[in-house]
Amino acid sequence: MTGGRRSRDNKLDQLLSTEDSEKTLTEDVKKEEAQGKVNKFTFDMTPKELYALLCKSVIGQDEAKIKLSNAICYHYQNLATGGNNKQKNNVLLLGPTGCGKTYLVQKVAKAVKVPLIIGDATKFSGTGYVGGKVESLLQDLLVKAEYDLAAASRGIIYLDELDKIACKDGSGRDVSGRDVQNGLLKIIEGGNEFPVMHPTGQRMIKTDNILFIGGGAFSDLYKILRGQTGGDAKQGAENDDGELLFKANPGYLLKALMKYGMIPELLGRIPVIARLKALTKQELRDILTKSDESVLLQYVSDFKAYGTEVKFNESAYDTIAEKAFERGMGARGLGAVVEEALSPLKFHLPGTGVTEVEVTKQLIEYPLVTTLDIIQKHKKTLGG
Ligand code: ADP
Repeated sequence: MTGGRRSRDNKLDQLLSTEDSEKTLTEDVKKEEAQGKVNKFTFDMTPKELYALLCKSVIGQDEAKIKLSNAICYHYQNLATGGNNKQKNNVLLLGPTGCGKTYLVQKVAKAVKVPLIIGDATKFSGTGYVGGKVESLLQDLLVKAEYDLAAASRGIIYLDELDKIACKDGSGRDVSGRDVQNGLLKIIEGGNEFPVMHPTGQRMIKTDNILFIGGGAFSDLYKILRGQTGGDAKQGAENDDGELLFKANPGYLLKALMKYGMIPELLGRIPVIARLKALTKQELRDILTKSDESVLLQYVSDFKAYGTEVKFNESAYDTIAEKAFERGMGARGLGAVVEEALSPLKFHLPGTGVTEVEVTKQLIEYPLVTTLDIIQKHKKTLGG
């Protein structure tokens, strides 16, 4: 812990025990920031700049990238300039598994340099949470912020699988979902403070500037939307479902979410709703070839460390994308397909003296046989 932070925390302790702590605390932190004793929160990014940054690694999902860029930039620009966010731009990300919801949130938190915790709504029950209650998310956030209260109080909480806490009696979904949603409401809305454990003792954390982002697949939502738009819930191909979500106007969408089992009070605190699409085969391919965090880069670097330059040809990209697409897990499938395909190469190649390998469709489809073939051919060229 830095000297500045320690001194500020001691000060916070005293201040939190006073009645008008909010006013004095803010003034005090500002004073210390001005004196350079603590790191002043700085933010100077336009929505377009953040969007451009996200585009370097996140493929597709334009609606979510634009809406998140807006929500994040206005929230943090406001905080950095000493403004007060009366209505927080909490966000709901709707989209199937593996399409980039968590990834986007991780990217924005990194860009803004604020602590982020990723929670799972299914871990909560109406009566508690494994290891605590809904409020324990705030404790997690404080830990993530290395016990820096000021940093934690402007962090981001991402709660995935929000659809799993929908309450709908008789549908098989958890009827205690209402209690969980009410619990969440307390930490999502501003104006509340909760006790957290700090190395210096119990402290309070305010929720005013904590940004909440929820995520979920809401996979049956299309049935409700079809009903609302007058269509037959049974009609339509599976791959039309995402389209239906995108075509729905905001009013319909909100109503459908309520029908799904999200309480209006909670939805009222989440003004930004962004939809993400299931990734197409082409987008999965683009993740391999265009994202600056393509899973392939690690393999290239790993093989290089053993003296082999590995290149992927076009047919290899196609085959990996196709295989991942067939798994129906979005981009999550990419890593597994690549690992399965390159595992024999990783094992057999080091020590053989092979300096160059072209990864082909053949190698992706028949990893072991093709690997052994490559090594055999190399030995032959050496006259072995
Ligand atoms: P979910 O939508 O279920 O939260 P994730 O964001 O966790 O999915 O995606 C899993 C992984 O897949 C990410 O860590 C990232 O590497 C990759 N990924 C997912 N979507 C995209 C995307 N649109 N662009 C680039 N990579 C992606």
